[in-house]
Amino acid sequence: MDSIMGTETPGNANHRARPRIATLWLGGCAGCHMSFLDMDERLMDLAPRISLVYGPLVDRKEFPDQVDVVLVEGAVANEDNLHHLQEARKKSRLLVAFGDCAVTGNVTSMRNTQSSAGVVMDRSFVENASLHPGVPRSGGILPRLLDRVIPVHQAVPVDLFLPGCPPSADLIFYLISELLEGRSPDLSDKLKYG
Ligand code: SF4
Repeated sequence: MDSIMGTETPGNANHRARPRIATLWLGGCAGCHMSFLDMDERLMDLAPRISLVYGPLVDRKEFPDQVDVVLVEGAVANEDNLHHLQEARKKSRLLVAFGDCAVTGNVTSMRNTQSSAGVVMDRSFVENASLHPGVPRSGGILPRLLDRVIPVHQAVPVDLFLPGCPPSADLIFYLISELLEGRSPDLSDKLKYG
């Protein structure tokens, strides 16, 4: 596995920039990001060692170039998810499937028991919207649902899988710390689903 120990600053081989970390929120409940925040004071340990360059915790609209690691929460449920994931993959060296929804589809993929996205769309947005006359039934304000919800690795190559619903703060800290040390995280005795 590639080390993420910062890239050389142009013109100064002795100076290395801090690794650029991003997070991405696809079809998930935000619980994995909440677990990220649950690292609590350990975030202060990480703060001087990384640059958090994108994600729901960062006020930035576009996914930046040259990201070292992106943690992807959630399954791929709609066209926006797919577009953002493909862009993140193109611009990131390591991509981590972050949490059970990203790894397997988990809760987000429960709608796959229905015959198509249209059934879900009608029930969730059209029928229920009729209860609220102010809610528009059409007009392109919602991204088009994919017919099937898929885990991240079915859309793009994944470098690391971090299961858990959500993964614990301890596990997230371990993974990032190991990557910062240039080691491949050994998750073999630490993983659980759910
Ligand atoms: S893995 Fe669990 S906590 Fe994370 S987005 Fe899915 S349902 Fe939420």
